[in-house]
Amino acid sequence: KKGDQKGLQHPRYIRVNTILSSRDEVEKTLKNEGFILKEYEAQSQKGFLKSIRKMGARSFYHDYHVPNVVVLNPMINFYNHELEKTGKIVVQDKASCLASLLLNPPAGSTVIDACAAPGMKTSHLAALMENQGKIFAVDLDAERCKRMEKSLQHYGVTCATTINEDFLKISPQNERFSAASHILVDPTCSGSGVTSRTNKQNRQSKKEERERLQKLKHLQMTLLKHALSFPNVQRVVYATCSISPEEDEEVVQEALKSNSQFILRPYSKYLPKWKGCGKPRYSVGPNCLRSFPEKHLTNGFFVAVMERYVPLAQEEG
Ligand code: SAM
Repeated sequence: KKGDQKGLQHPRYIRVNTILSSRDEVEKTLKNEGFILKEYEAQSQKGFLKSIRKMGARSFYHDYHVPNVVVLNPMINFYNHELEKTGKIVVQDKASCLASLLLNPPAGSTVIDACAAPGMKTSHLAALMENQGKIFAVDLDAERCKRMEKSLQHYGVTCATTINEDFLKISPQNERFSAASHILVDPTCSGSGVTSRTNKQNRQSKKEERERLQKLKHLQMTLLKHALSFPNVQRVVYATCSISPEEDEEVVQEALKSNSQFILRPYSKYLPKWKGCGKPRYSVGPNCLRSFPEKHLTNGFFVAVMERYVPLAQEEG
């Protein structure tokens, strides 16, 4: 039913952990267990989603947008599967893979994952970097940092160091971190895009909800502005699993207003196959990526890519 996210069931998404396995290996295991690899109706977002909506219990598909993500029927549980126990796959919502994919740091680069725990995106970043280079996986919360450390070990990540620290207290001039060329900011948010959490939100009064959003917005903006102040950073990705523009377009718009060295890159430059953007009533909206639970069969998610401004003449020359 439209607007009712309560009963919405998304497909089961698994990300192949290319540090410890390959899509071929995972595919082979699935086939041995009786799963059948299917083709979409058409090579387009629409054709893909149409096929996914009527997917059979034993079918699986390659994801249309995210390399190394495999799509299965929601009834299939992988939490105790051998592939998960050996760290060869990560059970992760597809939308949350889009943030790391858009940051896309090359192998060998220096990266800060500013709000990293429990490390889902860190392990994806490490895989994209072929486990080469350096990721500083920063998080304020000690317990969550411990979980992250275990999880990164489980997934064979050796290029990341966990840092239990407030990102805001890390000086951009600190020699250890100042070389960072890529920063991911995935801060605490209302979680209003996570369909399983949507009902809890409704219990708050409108006033409480507005106040909560304003507080979150302030924290998110402070974190994003801090990321933009690192001297060598070339690309910053800001992501939330919120559907509220206060935490999304408004944060990006205001952070960019006070930082003229950065521009918002249209997400379509890096992910042209994705159809789904931010709210058009904000000037930044069309260039930001949004996923919508009903449309994309994922959690609601927001991603914006900011890059240090390079005059066009230099970029082309
Ligand atoms: N990126 C994570 C992942 O993909 O697994 C999820 C991050 S979660 C949405 C937000 C995290 O931000 C929480 O773990 C929280 O402890 C952390 N956080 C909030 N404020 C922070 C700060 N000032 N410095 C560092 N971490 C912070």
